[in-house]
Amino acid sequence: MERVILFGGTFDPPHMGHVALLRAAIETVRPDSVLIMPTGTPPHKGGHHADARLRMAMCRCFLPLFDRMVISNDEIARGGKSYTIDTVRRLRARMPGAQFFLPIGSDMLATFRQWRGYRELMQSVTLVVHSRVGTDALALSELASSLSAEGGSLIIAPGEVLVLSSTEIREKMRRGEDVSALVPGTALEIAGQYGLYREAET
Ligand code: ATP
Repeated sequence: MERVILFGGTFDPPHMGHVALLRAAIETVRPDSVLIMPTGTPPHKGGHHADARLRMAMCRCFLPLFDRMVISNDEIARGGKSYTIDTVRRLRARMPGAQFFLPIGSDMLATFRQWRGYRELMQSVTLVVHSRVGTDALALSELASSLSAEGGSLIIAPGEVLVLSSTEIREKMRRGEDVSALVPGTALEIAGQYGLYREAET
């Protein structure tokens, strides 16, 4: 059975925390392929700071992590709000023989029961959870067991923990701070080229 990692996010911009999560997921899952899925309008966020085309271009920074990786514009092209369950249903219809793995940060697991169709979602994919804070191991394993008890399939992926968010990066860039250690070079170049996250855009 083909093992596919589906990595969704706003990626506004992508940062080393995303890289740490994806790397941990790849090492744990050993997938056959990786699909990067930048969101259209994220259901839980107020708005974007970079447009979809540029967020998608910035995702090229993930390509060196794995050979068989594709950046998909499915959610962006669909427009409107993106719900992971809709994307997973479409992918399962398109690839009926595949097993899907969804890397998520521990913040997302904490609010997972608020996701649309979360039961169906966690029964049709395996969640691959990576800590965002490094101090939530106990809370994470408790949450993972309670979701497993509801029929969910979850793996906790060990790996480097980076306390970092796109919000923090946007703020730093707005203040003109150096973020070159926090954002992969390919993404930073595109952000620089298009003047993203500068004072006027935020
Ligand atoms: P924002 O600050 O704009 O809310 P974000 O940094 O949370 O953005 P997203 O693009 O929303 O980034 O995240 C996509 C996925 O990556 C989510 O599952 C999120 O939990 C995970 N993630 C983000 N940052 C980290 C991190 N530092 N470590 C592990 N996972 C992360």
